[in-house]
Amino acid sequence: DRLLRRGGAWVANHPKRDLITRRYLAHDRGLQSDALERLALLEDRPSGADPVDEPADEDEIADVAESAVEDPISLNEQRMAAVVAEVQRGSHRSVVDLGCGEGRLLGRLLRETGAERVVGIDVSHRSLAIAARRRHLDTMAPRQRDRIELRQGGLTYVDPALRGFDVACLVEVIEHIEPWRLDAVEHVVFAEAQPGRVVVTTPNIEHNVRFAGMDPGRLRHADHRFEWSRAEFATWCEAVADRHGYAVTYAAIGDDDPEVGPPTQMAVFAR
Ligand code: SAH
Repeated sequence: DRLLRRGGAWVANHPKRDLITRRYLAHDRGLQSDALERLALLEDRPSGADPVDEPADEDEIADVAESAVEDPISLNEQRMAAVVAEVQRGSHRSVVDLGCGEGRLLGRLLRETGAERVVGIDVSHRSLAIAARRRHLDTMAPRQRDRIELRQGGLTYVDPALRGFDVACLVEVIEHIEPWRLDAVEHVVFAEAQPGRVVVTTPNIEHNVRFAGMDPGRLRHADHRFEWSRAEFATWCEAVADRHGYAVTYAAIGDDDPEVGPPTQMAVFAR
């Protein structure tokens, strides 16, 4: 039910429908065949889903699986809204989205905030190409086009162009970075770029027990290098804030379970 609700027509019409379905329901072959039968019925029905213009790769399959795991309540939507609200809480003439991926947050920053300059940075050329297409950079009016820039770059390398931003966002990015490289990211963001504020979100691993159908001990996404408890995240945040002269506050995103906390945790650093 969840796969059909979330993936619906998109999965049904996807060239790798079988693979996505079998991966998502890897724990239960009976569910796989049920789901494949139901998806076959949906195939070619008109839908609002994005047209499929390229075959799925491993990342895309993992993304679908992650949102299907996380998302009966559109956690992603709540996450983006929480981050935008946080950005708007203080000065935000210039905002940089570090690890912008396919540009979901960039679109909202352009539409919903008066930011004069919005920059998205990602290591993945493929994600940036999708971001450029989704944000329609090639057909934007010049005044809008001047507000946005996409740059390819890695967050473990010092980049002078990252200096001087009011706000930096790291939305669901740190867990994709090897733990031993987090020190480099910390240096690049907090010691060199020194934004006025830094908004960081990451999964709360404690909440994983609340996701039906998720095997114990599994992480939410095949590319996650770690997922932290609230205490582990706070330990890292306190140390970073201490070392670089920031104050940090925390907020819950999604249903804040009394026992295991929210699905997504957010920290806001202010210099
Ligand atoms: N912030 C986006 C994407 C999250 S997925 C969103 O919320 O939708 C994580 C992103 O981080 C991916 O796009 C990946 O390419 C990027 N990423 C991972 N390691 C990186 C690094 N070292 N430097 C820059 N980007 C990185």
